[in-house]
Amino acid sequence: MKEKQDKLDRIVLWPKRDFSVRRHHPWIFSGAIANAAPDIAAGETVEVVDVDGETLGYGSFSPTSQFRVRMLSFDPKVVPDARFVEDLVACAIGRRADFFARAETNALRLVNAESDGLPGVVADFYAGWVVCQFTSAGAVFWKPTVVAALMKCVPGCRGVCERADVDVREKEGLPVEPAFAVLAGEEPPALVEIFEGPVKFLVDVRKGHKTGFYLDQRDARAAVGALANGAEVLNCFSYTGGFGLFARACGAKSVTQVDISGEALALAKRNEALGHFCGTEMNYVEADVFQYLRKCRDEGRSFDLVVLDPPKFASAKSQLEQAVRGYKDINLLAMKLLKPNGLLATFSCSGAMTAELFDKVLVGAAQDAKRDFQVVGRTRPGADHPVALSFPEGAYLKGVLLRSVQ
Ligand code: SAH
Repeated sequence: MKEKQDKLDRIVLWPKRDFSVRRHHPWIFSGAIANAAPDIAAGETVEVVDVDGETLGYGSFSPTSQFRVRMLSFDPKVVPDARFVEDLVACAIGRRADFFARAETNALRLVNAESDGLPGVVADFYAGWVVCQFTSAGAVFWKPTVVAALMKCVPGCRGVCERADVDVREKEGLPVEPAFAVLAGEEPPALVEIFEGPVKFLVDVRKGHKTGFYLDQRDARAAVGALANGAEVLNCFSYTGGFGLFARACGAKSVTQVDISGEALALAKRNEALGHFCGTEMNYVEADVFQYLRKCRDEGRSFDLVVLDPPKFASAKSQLEQAVRGYKDINLLAMKLLKPNGLLATFSCSGAMTAELFDKVLVGAAQDAKRDFQVVGRTRPGADHPVALSFPEGAYLKGVLLRSVQ
């Protein structure tokens, strides 16, 4: 161990820039580094020391990223090696044993990057197939080890695939092609069928958003569905139908699914066909939600339940102001479409938008809509998307359930 440690390149932090590492925050920004050995290769493991030479731990080097080092071990005595990374994967899967045992779904996140101790590594499970994203130089460096560990540890694993078409890879200097590759095991079918409680979905693991499905909204879909009995539902930004199909399974009177993507709606219709006929009137609208909400307003339409689950409006703090305007606009319009005592399920997956700021935006929207609301629930991703206490950046997705009180 000692001999190996001596060979590692060293990163020396500026005075006072060691605090966050000591609190086990996994990112070291380029500006925190006082001194780094020259020519450290992408993904190489480095030893991180404070200004006095005390070892704080070990991380993976990303030469082109503002997150220059992502920590893997905060123990000076534990130098990450293949066995260490394999253990991280095995532990992450072990912590999800409940999901496999309860069998309420066969789709879940197995490895949630930084929050499972594996920066830049995401692994999602879809009915036997694992779809990964490797979004940092360190994650790519350890890819073969992670893939082998997944094949070995995931119950019923049929194959491991990769999606490389992730925007953040560019910032890391990593290629975004080929978009899809099978890394081990069998080739998955064109569409993988999964279930979440009573609802079945087809997942396009090759071209679908993220790794194919929004697993992080599982609990929210169930919570919204539970409010939908007998309701006329407007599901904005529906993607492949998630919230709307839960509302249908829970006895909604009608569901209108709105998305700008015809492909997503086509899959939503196929997903509808996987469920039992239950008398819910289903409508599909290919439209820009910003325009469609205005159209509904102009036509004097109203709904019992409106869902707003837009894509990320702000991927950086610099876009926050514009994002706030976007969130306020759709929430204000949706609030005005609610029937008396109607419900609004509204979400933000922009990490730069804090839960407090999102609440403020909603308060502003309610003021302009001239309506009062009660918060009747809040949602967050399920236990397969844990957030490390030392890594608040992991909590990007927030949901608020509002009831109009007039
Ligand atoms: N609620 C979904 C996930 C929504 S993802 C689920 O539970 O699975 C966001 C969706 O918004 C994507 O399908 C994308 O095609 C769509 N979208 C993005 N911009 C849009 C716009 N301006 N109008 C309508 N849909 C939009």
